[in-house]
Amino acid sequence: MTDSNIHTNHTDITIIGGGMVGAALAAMLAKSLTDRQITLIEAFPLPKAGKPLFQPSFDDRSTAIASGSVDLLEHIGVWKTLAEHATPIRQVHVSDRGHFGGSLITSEEVNLDAVGYVVPNAWIGRALLAHLQEQTNITLLTPAKVEKLQLIPNGAEISVSKDGETSTLTTELAVIADGADSPLRKGLGIDTQVDDYKQTAIIANVRFDKPHQGTAYERFTDEGPMALLPLGLNDHGQESALVWTQPSHQADEILNMSDDAFLKQLQERFGHRLGNFVQVGRRDSYPLQLIHACEQVRTSIAIMGNAAHFLHPVAGQGFNLALRDCASLCSVLKQAGDKSLGSLALLQDYIKSQTGDQQATIGFSHVLTKLFSTDSLPSAAVRALGFLGLELVAPAKHLLAQQTMGKATRGVKL
Ligand SMILES: Cc1cc2nc3c(=O)[nH]c(=O)nc-3n(C[C@H](O)[C@H](O)[C@H](O)COP(=O)(O)OP(=O)(O)OC[C@H]3O[C@@H](n4cnc5c(N)ncnc54)[C@H](O)[C@@H]3O)c2cc1C
Repeated sequence: MTDSNIHTNHTDITIIGGGMVGAALAAMLAKSLTDRQITLIEAFPLPKAGKPLFQPSFDDRSTAIASGSVDLLEHIGVWKTLAEHATPIRQVHVSDRGHFGGSLITSEEVNLDAVGYVVPNAWIGRALLAHLQEQTNITLLTPAKVEKLQLIPNGAEISVSKDGETSTLTTELAVIADGADSPLRKGLGIDTQVDDYKQTAIIANVRFDKPHQGTAYERFTDEGPMALLPLGLNDHGQESALVWTQPSHQADEILNMSDDAFLKQLQERFGHRLGNFVQVGRRDSYPLQLIHACEQVRTSIAIMGNAAHFLHPVAGQGFNLALRDCASLCSVLKQAGDKSLGSLALLQDYIKSQTGDQQATIGFSHVLTKLFSTDSLPSAAVRALGFLGLELVAPAKHLLAQQTMGKATRGVKL
């Protein structure tokens, strides 16, 4: 349901930020808390019918979605649409530049139809927001910007500017999902722990002249890892989403190169497994840091997504982890009974239920960045599994666990 004016000035839950995580959380809450009113406030406009959505969260990137996340997206009713734009990963090829050979992880080996799926962010945005527009317990305020958030007795008060006017909204629970920089988190005086990797991820879609056959490639180079995630709806696609990690001081040079020079350098770094690289799309860059909010909940406040934890994409787990957080929050709120949805005890139950998963996933992605410097192939395989954020079955998971940091909690259910 889209609201061009703010009719009511109170809503049970208000989500600030309709990016990947805010929009996914809104969809989960709409399904789990059918008797509650949820408002989603997003600074960018809604997508036009039938078109992918392009805004900073739903940009030219593509996301590797793990099987557990597919289950969650299926549960909220958007996977059917997303599947039309999802490329199954049939196998993962891992190699180290300067070393012969490589290792292959296939979907048969892990007993799944696909090791994971690659979905363009723009279609994730389109599917989620189109779905939200159909929900009767969701009010979408877009384009609208939250200017201020403050705590009041029994909730929070939010100042929203829309169409040049500022209105005030009260809510039992305000969810802050406004991205890694999160001005609203800062406004509440919540500190962050920051570890600057001094690396930048350069992304672009690239074309080549051999079919990828559903293979995701991960190649470790002395400058950082490079991933090519298959795109196109069948195994014969000749396009992949490139994530190329560079030391930050080199990133501008690579970003500003001519297409020919970029493709030449990529060819030199990746080799010829996909034949010749022939075309590169729009390039974008993301400086990489580990950012972790020191507090994720306060009375009437929950901080989610990148605002809560921003991970190195070496682990490709940012969205997958955030979806599990969202599922966990939903399941706790569902059991609120007579309690206010902003009850600190309730929100602490959510944090308790996700602490293990968050620590394991964040720690794991951090450890992976350290593993880049090692040469052994088992480590390389472990790195690849982590990079794609894939949820694999026992042997691979066991290897992951052994090689890195022990068991991670998985399989959050709504
Ligand atoms: C290169 C790269 C590759 C990645 N690959 C993967 C992957 O393969 N798998 C995976 O699981 N994860 C991946 N990730 C992580 C994933 O992209 C993030 O987890 C996800 O984008 C987080 O979304 P978010 O909604 O929390 O934040 P954001 O995407 O930053 O969205 C924040 C939203 O809030 C809105 N907003 C901000 N302030 C306000 C305000 N005051 N009022 C209203 N609206 C506001 C913004 O407009 C925006 O829409 C990758 C990340 C990068 C950088």
